[in-house]
Amino acid sequence: MQTAERVKKIEPSATLSISARATALKKEGKDVISFSAGEPDFDTPLVIKEEAKRAIDEGFTKYTPTSGTAELKEAISKKLERENGLFYLPQEIIVSCGAKHSLFNAILSLCNPGDEVLLPKPYWVTYLEQIKLAEGKPIFLEPSPSTLTVKIEEIKKALTPRTRLLILNNPSNPTGVVWEEEELKELADLVKERDLIIISDEIYEHLVYDGAQVKSIATFPGMKERTIVINGVSKTFSMTGWRIGYAAGPREVIEAMGRLQDHSTSNPTSISQRAAEKALTSDPVLVKEMVEKFNERRKLMMQYLSEIPSVTFPTPRGAFYIFANFSSYLGKNYKGKPINDSLQLTELLLEEAQIACVPGIAFGMEGYLRFSYATSEKNIEKGMERLKNFVSQTI
Ligand code: PMP
Ligand code: GLU
Repeated sequence: MQTAERVKKIEPSATLSISARATALKKEGKDVISFSAGEPDFDTPLVIKEEAKRAIDEGFTKYTPTSGTAELKEAISKKLERENGLFYLPQEIIVSCGAKHSLFNAILSLCNPGDEVLLPKPYWVTYLEQIKLAEGKPIFLEPSPSTLTVKIEEIKKALTPRTRLLILNNPSNPTGVVWEEEELKELADLVKERDLIIISDEIYEHLVYDGAQVKSIATFPGMKERTIVINGVSKTFSMTGWRIGYAAGPREVIEAMGRLQDHSTSNPTSISQRAAEKALTSDPVLVKEMVEKFNERRKLMMQYLSEIPSVTFPTPRGAFYIFANFSSYLGKNYKGKPINDSLQLTELLLEEAQIACVPGIAFGMEGYLRFSYATSEKNIEKGMERLKNFVSQTI
């Protein structure tokens, strides 16, 4: 059967499909070490799980308002006020089935066909496909090779009368780079001057290291009315399967997103909403422990990768990924098998070294590989040894 043109243009998610392939190989009994996962490997904290059980026992199992329960919206509003110094009314907040869903609805609500959407490279895979679905025109912004961040001059050069939106992901998936306050201020000034809108995906805001501070761009004067803040509980509270994300922004946009939800998903799962409310009102020590573990793993993986000849990467100060430049290995071969691009390299790594990682091309950057350190130190040691051994046999 023929499918509609709109879906023919959409690529499957490389991050999800590689993780699924690694899981399938493990199920077949293969000793695969996966550095592809974009999710914390910790269990969801007990207090959160208990709250969900309570919700079921109390019969909290029916439809809720499409845009989320009043209680969860209040918890989100308090979180944004307490942690980000931003004040939102309930009508300016919507709860969705994951941050991915909030992003989708925000892009669909803001982007007219042909509108130009600025996308800093490397970008998380889903942004591009969502822009395409909204019939927007993605305009890629090239990063500086050493820092993998986009300079303000690069953004200025890309502006045209059709520029409408910029997608900001801070901290970044896949690089782990955190924007400096000064850079954000420059961006905020440009956005105001050129009457643009920012979608600010802050889902990794709590997973930061080396004293990095994540400032929401919405906090700069005049920016709250030009920003849709996207966040969720998946990463911070290890709740990827619960599917709760949210957006906060100008009322007209949030209401438009609500209309999309009214006719697509209705409310996010009632039980998960109760769990998310618990997460957002719980003791921050829950998160602190996970961040400390991630930090240990980050240091370990950085140590290994820095010992691999000719590989470079910007020090990740957020999220749980390292985006490393392997371009000096392109053009080589492993046991006679050619390595022409990042996809071929990840396939060889999976087949020959049983390690899974994501090719840079999925994030718009050929020659790079994304490694997730959301896995045990034992796995990092084992997998990185395999990687070292693999590269030593490339010629
Ligand atoms: N934004 C970024 C940058 C991500 O890496 C993810 C991970 N899947 C999401 C949004 C979506 O998260 P979720 O839908 O699980 O809330
Ligand atoms: N965001 C994660 C990743 O980049 C999870 C997978 C996905 O939703 O794309 O790997």
